[in-house]
Amino acid sequence: MARKRIYEIARELGVSSKELITKLEQMGMPGLKATNTVDEEEYSLILNLYQEDVAVAKPKEGQHKPKKGVPRAPIVSVLGHIDHGKTTLLDAIRESHLADKEAGGITQTVGAYQADLHGQKITFIDTPGHKAFTGMRARGAMATDIAILVIAADDGIMAQTVEAIDHIRAANIPMIVAINKMDKPNADLKKVMNDLAQRGLTPEDWGGDTVTVPISATKNEGITELLEMILLVAEMEDLRADPDGLLEASVIESHLSVGRGPVATTVISQGTIHQSDCIVVGSTHGRVRALINQNGKHIREATPGTVVEILGLQEVPPVGTPIEIAKNITQARQIAASRPAKQVTRHRAREQMNVEDLFREAMEGEKLRLIVKASSTGALEAIHHELNSITVDSIELEFLHTGVGAISESDILLASTVAKNCLVVGFGTKPGSKASKLASREGVLILSYDIIYELVEQIERALKQMVPPKYEEVKLGETEVRELFKVPGGIVAGCAVTAGKVTSNGKIHVVRDNEQLFTGQIASLRRFKKDAREVQSGQECGICIKDFDNIKVGDKFIIFTLKEVEP
Ligand code: GDP
Repeated sequence: MARKRIYEIARELGVSSKELITKLEQMGMPGLKATNTVDEEEYSLILNLYQEDVAVAKPKEGQHKPKKGVPRAPIVSVLGHIDHGKTTLLDAIRESHLADKEAGGITQTVGAYQADLHGQKITFIDTPGHKAFTGMRARGAMATDIAILVIAADDGIMAQTVEAIDHIRAANIPMIVAINKMDKPNADLKKVMNDLAQRGLTPEDWGGDTVTVPISATKNEGITELLEMILLVAEMEDLRADPDGLLEASVIESHLSVGRGPVATTVISQGTIHQSDCIVVGSTHGRVRALINQNGKHIREATPGTVVEILGLQEVPPVGTPIEIAKNITQARQIAASRPAKQVTRHRAREQMNVEDLFREAMEGEKLRLIVKASSTGALEAIHHELNSITVDSIELEFLHTGVGAISESDILLASTVAKNCLVVGFGTKPGSKASKLASREGVLILSYDIIYELVEQIERALKQMVPPKYEEVKLGETEVRELFKVPGGIVAGCAVTAGKVTSNGKIHVVRDNEQLFTGQIASLRRFKKDAREVQSGQECGICIKDFDNIKVGDKFIIFTLKEVEP
């Protein structure tokens, strides 16, 4: 018998790979992956163990609470270096596996399509490349679930492959590497695998985590295996969507059609769009006049995972705009009218800030993310080295992407998806005019340098600004609890101030038997039944502690404030 993969065994047993792997783990076979292979002996061992186990422990009804929603088709984007075969791959899948393909039906390119394997659907975004991918994300819209990274086996990892890898990593979604052009005589699978391993993407066949599938898009080889892998990864991700939930969908393609008016294509991540729904798409709106699927068929409703063309909008909406459903056409019109035609608000607000303000705003968080573009590989290496040698307390420096060349629109888009704490740094290189415009529109901060120590100094300053201030306790006084009073909503501790003073805005430690029981904030301080601001040593008072009423007679309170100290 040939070796079997875990997912094949799972299919034979009629369970999901995830279920089988969990079961095997419980039965003392940890660390297995769906794509791992087993030999004949292990195979029958698994079958026996699994069947015995299932016979003994039949799950009680209702024991497994399903996650909310129903499984939905994964949404997949294809990325990779130019000419490595992204378009050819998308065409090959469309031709061989298009879902619901009608004999003689005309398939238009609408920006996405659904493929089908063993009755399971996969939605492919038909605009390949990381610019489209990150562009969607930058608008906070399109959710891609899985990325396919195409690498030509005769060319290996190239500049845009590296960019694509960084964009996928930033999106934090699983990646499948399709090693294409395997039919070419100079295809070198081993070299590609090696390149991947060197980039921290060790292939599964070499003991790593990266799923790789050798294919030939032109010869239609390995395509089914690739789709299998997508379904497998999707299964592990447990993608679900609630068809009755809030609509999550955005425009992936739009144009003005003679005769049909504005047309917007969307892929639905969650919720349902029905014919005659009133929708708002950015600053335009309309009543859905028709919904047309990928085969040109009119449908009445579009559910999660499906690709659909929407007719009935007043204007052509920009790609990436989210679609919302309104109660009625009046509400839709009002919401759309309240939005600026172009997204200028953020831009305007930012123009009034100076660089320091922008910088400060960019610097919130525990991590400073950088996209660094330099004029040469040597310069890039030097910057890497210098910046990595900076150590600032508790703040991490992460290189989201580094490369040689001008700052591009795709760099800006990548930065804008991570919003606040990401800087784009150019060394000996400046952004082009398109990238500059995009940066000011998206509020992305670009810093350009020609001298390395200036760059290092500025980044070090930024990191230091991010360190949260440190505080030390300054003791104000002490009290002893003599009596307790129940009041509506809590307990008041009747105390004698034994040292220093108590202030109404003070912080408090509760000490019992020399052990600190609780630290919190004074909620109210009273003296002679009236609110007091301060009570001095030798006097008596009533203290209420915020979110704490486990107080006992004899407890000691230590009152203190916090003072900021120099790091
Ligand atoms: P893209 O820029 O990544 O979209 O690349 P294309 O799909 O346009 O492909 C670039 C070139 O590579 C075209 O001439 C394709 O015919 C060719 N190509 C794509 N896939 C394969 C393949 O599997 N084998 C061979 N021999 N050529 C391929």
